[in-house]
Amino acid sequence: MGVDLGLKVPAVAVTDDEKVRFFGNGRENKYKKRNFRSFRKALGKKKKLNAIRNSKNKEQRWMEDKDHKVSRAIVNFAKENKISVIRLERLANIRQTTRTSRKNEKNLHTWSFYRLSQFIEYKAELEGIKVEYVNPAYTSQTCPKCSQRNKAQDRKYTCKCGFEKHRDIVGAMNIRYAPVVDGNSQSA
Ligand SMILES: [Zn+2]
Repeated sequence: MGVDLGLKVPAVAVTDDEKVRFFGNGRENKYKKRNFRSFRKALGKKKKLNAIRNSKNKEQRWMEDKDHKVSRAIVNFAKENKISVIRLERLANIRQTTRTSRKNEKNLHTWSFYRLSQFIEYKAELEGIKVEYVNPAYTSQTCPKCSQRNKAQDRKYTCKCGFEKHRDIVGAMNIRYAPVVDGNSQSA
């Protein structure tokens, strides 16, 4: 089974017999983050530094809880479908990201994908399901039907051969059969 992680759609899974499942609610996450941010901005004006720190911790816990739920649902879906291997994309630069700043947006996203991957790996292992990481090159561009490369327009992927699907589904479809990178686990 391939699993594609993202922001708008936190996770999409496609099994080898083409069953598709979407997980999480990207819009809700975005809305929640915005609320936390504007709340902290107001606290900043009043110089309430402890309250700001508490709010940051609260946001972290909230996101972590979401990741636990999404990873649990993914592993349950895998179990229901008798999946023995879950494939995820190997994240680029996770070493740099953990070592350096988590402040910029891109690093933050990498970091949150990393955490979700770790949760999936951990829960899958307990169920005897293996997690493998694949090379992410072209997983979002290659047509699963004819192998031609196309760039998805917005959320929709279309190919000249007539194939069309939600872009995240295409990602997950390709992740299933993408080359596995060395080492089964990614560690920071
Ligand atoms: Zn095609």
